[in-house]
Amino acid sequence: MSAGFSRREMLGKLGWGGAGLGLLAGRGFADADTDGDPAYPGFAKNVRKVAPSMRDVASARLEGGKVVQPARELPVFHTADVVVVGGGSAGFAAAVAAARTGAKVALVERYGSLGGLFTNGMVLIVIGTGVKENGGFKLVTRGICEEFLRRLEKMGAGAVTALPPEVGQPTVDPEAAKVLMDEMVQEAKVDMFFHAWGVDVIQNGNAVQGIVFESKQGRQAILAKVVVDASGDGDVYFQAGADYQQISHAMGFVYRVGNSDRVDAGKLPKGTKAPRLGSIEPVKSTRWMNNLGPRGNGLDIRDLSKIEMMHRKSAWDYVQRIRKTPGYEEVFLMQTTPQIGVRATRLLDGAASIDKKGAVSGAKCADAVAVSGHDGMKLPEFPIPYGALLPKTVDNVIAAGRCISCAPDLIDRVRLIPVCIVTGHAAGVAAALAAKANARPRDVPVADIQKVLREQGAYLG
Ligand SMILES: Cc1cc2nc3c(=O)[nH]c(=O)nc-3n(C[C@H](O)[C@H](O)[C@H](O)COP(=O)(O)OP(=O)(O)OC[C@H]3O[C@@H](n4cnc5c(N)ncnc54)[C@H](O)[C@@H]3O)c2cc1C
Repeated sequence: MSAGFSRREMLGKLGWGGAGLGLLAGRGFADADTDGDPAYPGFAKNVRKVAPSMRDVASARLEGGKVVQPARELPVFHTADVVVVGGGSAGFAAAVAAARTGAKVALVERYGSLGGLFTNGMVLIVIGTGVKENGGFKLVTRGICEEFLRRLEKMGAGAVTALPPEVGQPTVDPEAAKVLMDEMVQEAKVDMFFHAWGVDVIQNGNAVQGIVFESKQGRQAILAKVVVDASGDGDVYFQAGADYQQISHAMGFVYRVGNSDRVDAGKLPKGTKAPRLGSIEPVKSTRWMNNLGPRGNGLDIRDLSKIEMMHRKSAWDYVQRIRKTPGYEEVFLMQTTPQIGVRATRLLDGAASIDKKGAVSGAKCADAVAVSGHDGMKLPEFPIPYGALLPKTVDNVIAAGRCISCAPDLIDRVRLIPVCIVTGHAAGVAAALAAKANARPRDVPVADIQKVLREQGAYLG
């Protein structure tokens, strides 16, 4: 029945024409039409007939050998003060921070869980939380980052290894991290929209006014005063026409092996080197295997597809070789990453930038909104200025995470998980303050952002 209706006809049938779209725009995460017990084992009881998805009439056409997408009106799915695109470590923190600062926040994530490379990419070790100082360890990634780690610890054995300052580099169980991130965005009353891929911005000149996303229900809009680009790849500022530089980097592919506690090393033949099982996890039966991988363009689906298949085969072959080693027969390939390890792609060419020379100088910065640590190395902490999150010309977009403005020589430090969390925290606070004041993010006094960040437990040097 549904296939015969256009989107407009369908809106009419549902009584949602014209201004009625506002009804749709007001519905958030809490209004989702779901019921039932997630553990219910049956099927038929849960089957319902629902209003069909709207059919999109304005399909692309082939005109004189060119594919043309006709102009079309997009339904406004939602409105918010702040929309965060990307729910990785940066986006999760940005959404929580913006909501805690009083904004109505929507978080849009293309996959079905939070954490990005940290959880779905199974990069489990949190490096860069602090620095060595006066013979001890100083935690610098405080605020939401520290809260997150302490709350993981409270989730019980198996969620995280010992925390800083005891251990500078905790290893986290990805499922525990996902559950806790869900919990924290829900507590903050963020409207969470999974399975939504941000594909465009709504823009008037330099001013961005929201985003367009794709989902199984087609292309729809979210209106917002400020957009936080936490896509990791700068998708939002790219769509808005901001300046950036692009790099290729080694693409990794983390995998986990199971039964690591069932190894009988005593059976290893004399003179045989013990196979590498990977790094420890909070539970002793599993290990995770990090790797560098071949270099490629993390935005090009040809590179991504090729590297992903190469990695998968290599992981399988490696574990099969381990299994042939006496004493290691029970080790098995438990899980390969559902998200290939794209280390870096677009780097914003922002209002300010940071590079290695500045980072190792130990210089302070009056505009700092975040501070990076570096465990285990003899490098000092370094400040990240507000301008490193701001495009030079595009307004109402704030970058966070691994796509902020930095020189390629510093990206391997900027992209570390806790550093992404603290830049996300800063971007969220700045976005909320800009939305509240109806101001452009670049016009919000840094001192105001710093004040709120400090109130929320952040360390700014
Ligand atoms: C192989 C590998 C090993 C690493 N090892 C370590 C390590 O040992 N320790 C460490 O601290 N760091 C490590 N890192 C770095 C770290 O994991 C990442 O840089 C960091 O997690 C990035 O966080 P982010 O939030 O900026 O980006 P991401 O984690 O990439 O998050 C971006 C999120 O946005 C979503 N998204 C993207 N585009 C869109 C869109 N258009 N619309 C909607 N959603 C979108 C993605 O699905 C994702 O959830 C490693 C990285 C890799 C790849």
